[in-house]
Amino acid sequence: MTGEARQPMTGGRKLEEVENHMEREILRMEVESRSSNEEFARVAVAVFMSRLDPTMEEIDDVKTAVSEAVTNAVIHGYQGKDGIIYIQVAIERQLLSVEIRDLGVGIRDVEKAMEPMYTTDTTGERSGMGFSFMEAFMDEVQVRSAPGQGTCVIMKKRIGR
Ligand code: ATP
Ligand code: MG
Repeated sequence: MTGEARQPMTGGRKLEEVENHMEREILRMEVESRSSNEEFARVAVAVFMSRLDPTMEEIDDVKTAVSEAVTNAVIHGYQGKDGIIYIQVAIERQLLSVEIRDLGVGIRDVEKAMEPMYTTDTTGERSGMGFSFMEAFMDEVQVRSAPGQGTCVIMKKRIGR
């Protein structure tokens, strides 16, 4: 020891860097493309977001949005076939970000797909309201997609005002 003033270190990192890093908490999950995992994903996200002290309404909003996005990945992205759905949830201060990604068929015209009541479903079971619900229940919804490459839905919501 030389006795000179030193920056406190933690595992080789400056304390300040460690503190900045800790402000963001991330949950990453990979689930098989199955409708049973839709329930799992929305409950896992709800539990993770509980540290933000959300209201019941905020939890329900996020669960609904997650459910719509995961269902889309299962039904449209992977068209009921095998595949992996990648879910990432991040919390930074009061901001919740949820990313739901598939490597499925992708969307040719994202703008059109996001229009209320637009659906490519021909069975009459779907109403084409999934994206509209995501937009209604979250503050921000971004969709990145390309045919043959898959789809990534990023949704953000500020919890507690
Ligand atoms: P609903 O959600 O009301 O049951 P829907 O799934 O058809 O019906 P949206 O969720 O709004 O309605 O999606 C609109 C359309 O966007 C879908 O019909 C589908 O063509 C396309 N789409 C959505 N998500 C994906 C995805 N992950 N991969 C490929 N296509 C998708
Ligand atoms: Mg849908």
